[in-house]
Amino acid sequence: MPTLFERILNKEIPATIVHQDERVTAFRDIQPRAPVHILVVPTKPIPTANDIEDGDEALIGHMFTVARDLARREGIAEDGYRLIINCNKHGGQEVYHLHLHLLGGKPLGPMVSA
Ligand code: 5GP
Repeated sequence: MPTLFERILNKEIPATIVHQDERVTAFRDIQPRAPVHILVVPTKPIPTANDIEDGDEALIGHMFTVARDLARREGIAEDGYRLIINCNKHGGQEVYHLHLHLLGGKPLGPMVSA
């Protein structure tokens, strides 16, 4: 079964895509938790951070450089932003296709709620 995000990448499910290349797609989160909330998703369907392989290092780095460029383009680089990868149950992961959250556009408060 393709993941929800694979279906977005394949354009079977609509999303507001803000960047796409052969290795990653970035689109706006359907339920934004901040004025800017973008998900950077690798084309390769890696389920969780636990499943990242040594050979994925360049891909993971690319996710971060895309997020950096998007932060600049969205005008949040100077004030700052947060990059998050949730993993499994305690991390609050909902979609089991690795993704990097780019959040910003307002002060984001404490890193973890008590
Ligand atoms: P996670 O909790 O797995 O780290 O994050 C999953 C994110 O995917 C959530 O922030 C959620 O709002 C977002 N999301 C879930 N379904 C959809 C969808 O169909 N479209 C988009 N654009 N985002 C989604």
